[in-house]
Amino acid sequence: MKVLLVDDSNSIAMVVGQMLQDLGHEVVRAKDGKDAIAKVNENSDIGVVLLDWNMPEMDGLEFLEYNQKNKILSCPIIMMTTENKPEKIVKALQNGASEYIMKPFTQDILVSKIDTVVKG
Ligand SMILES: [Mg+2]
Repeated sequence: MKVLLVDDSNSIAMVVGQMLQDLGHEVVRAKDGKDAIAKVNENSDIGVVLLDWNMPEMDGLEFLEYNQKNKILSCPIIMMTTENKPEKIVKALQNGASEYIMKPFTQDILVSKIDTVVKG
């Protein structure tokens, strides 16, 4: 499956990207929300999105809002958060995220989150 990995941190993108590749996924990386829009336009077959919250240019929440208005994606979006404040999680879910995952996470947790959103 093609996974769009949106994170401004190169080190996180490397670690999570390697996990995804080990699981047999193809990784498309974007460094912020604006870059993610460009990558969505170039890749019509994205199966799931892993979306960081804090990023320059356009952050994760702004990307969710953009997608709700413009419907550029129909696949599930998993929000990656560093804090588990309930109001933030609720806000992400209200704005179109299917799930959230707390950073840092293990490959097992990543698998279970992806399975949850892709298989329902
Ligand atoms: Mg970030």
